[in-house]
Amino acid sequence: TTAYLGAIETAGALNAYVLTTPDKALAMAKASDDRIAKGEAGPLEGIPLGVKDNYAVDGVRTTAGSNILKNFVPPYESSVTANLWQAGAVLLGKLNQDEFAMGSSTESSAFGPTVNPWRRKGSSQPLVPGGSSGGSAAAVAAHLAAGAAGTDTGGSIRQPAAFTGTVGIKPTYGRCSRWGIVAYASSLDQAGPIARSVNDAALLLRAMAGHDAKDSTSVDLPVPDYQQSCGGSVKGKRIGIPREYRVDGMSAEIAALWDKGADMLREAGAEIVEISLPHTKYALPAYYIVALAEASSNLARYDGVRYGERVAGRDIVEMYEKTRASGFGAEVRRRIMIGTYVLSAGYYDAYYLKAQQVRTLIKRDFETVFAEGVDAVLAPATPSPAFGIGEKSGADPVEMYLQDVFTVTLNMAGLPGISVPAGLSSEGLPLGLQLIGRPFEEQHLFALGQVIE
Ligand code: GLN
Repeated sequence: TTAYLGAIETAGALNAYVLTTPDKALAMAKASDDRIAKGEAGPLEGIPLGVKDNYAVDGVRTTAGSNILKNFVPPYESSVTANLWQAGAVLLGKLNQDEFAMGSSTESSAFGPTVNPWRRKGSSQPLVPGGSSGGSAAAVAAHLAAGAAGTDTGGSIRQPAAFTGTVGIKPTYGRCSRWGIVAYASSLDQAGPIARSVNDAALLLRAMAGHDAKDSTSVDLPVPDYQQSCGGSVKGKRIGIPREYRVDGMSAEIAALWDKGADMLREAGAEIVEISLPHTKYALPAYYIVALAEASSNLARYDGVRYGERVAGRDIVEMYEKTRASGFGAEVRRRIMIGTYVLSAGYYDAYYLKAQQVRTLIKRDFETVFAEGVDAVLAPATPSPAFGIGEKSGADPVEMYLQDVFTVTLNMAGLPGISVPAGLSSEGLPLGLQLIGRPFEEQHLFALGQVIE
């Protein structure tokens, strides 16, 4: 813990952490030492972790990357972090993220962008770590935490993992409790780990997952010992290669990586089959309707009364307006406006309802291939390696949204997905492949992921 705290200070320029909690960390580490001495070590005893800043940690400032929560100290603990501490883990601090987890680069944080520890060969240009869990991914990649907790609404664990050469898993919707995590889009949000290996991700997810009576969407199923699946045989597993993911303009490099991943799985005894997920091309636009609709509703609570830094006004309406105008950043305001629009009378049927219908079709696409005997789907995690800070945060927000083309389908369908490092780009940057599994069968993803990592 002491070594990690020192490393975090030295690497301050990466801006991976929004804040560190050294006193708490050392006290937790000491308690771990005591439990180890008494032979009472938990599965994560003494392991120093970072936590994305949208997890409420009792008594520790929790901002979700937003000015509107810049002084918010929750008097309660999220269920997932409570599970981590119960397993013996140590909190190093809170990790940077896009504001309210809205973004794919960690540039929309009110606390400045996080910098990817990787550089293009021969270049010193700072790159984004991906997002929204960019602080989590950068910290793990730069050895500023042994592992980290992130959240994934449309790719926010898997895309930053791919950009930093780390492993990230978004479990099945309902596997981890959402209680105490700052909500973005409640029907899509899931917690999950970012780690340095598939094995570490397995260990972390087992501790994080589990039923919680405080989240009615959390599922009461036993959590398998995922580490046992690591190194397991993948012989005879059927892996689907969805033809619709070969999107127009896919780079030769990403296409080659994808083929290489399929070859590795084939050599390990898996059977590779081509499959069709016909509604894939509608996933991204439908996602940006469903997610923003839910966000506009979830973010209504930041009104300067219940939550949020209040800015005074002459009357209550002016107080609301001033509070929200000054507390939220540009991307969050844009999303609240779009979300409110698609839910409004006259537009609800044309946008929100339609998007929900598309969501059902996307889910059915996967159900069909799984029913035909496919065990997992292999696809790229991202359309490109990490890009430069400022490169995609210009006038056209759709530039950034296109980053999520391979990741949002899973959230729409509620399925688990793991992103594993699969090679380096010609410029020397990490690239990731994604494996998508049947609901609540994360264990197979660990076995398959280990073949590729
Ligand atoms: N980039 C996507 C978005 O901005 C996903 C974010 C996330 O998974 N939290 O909505």
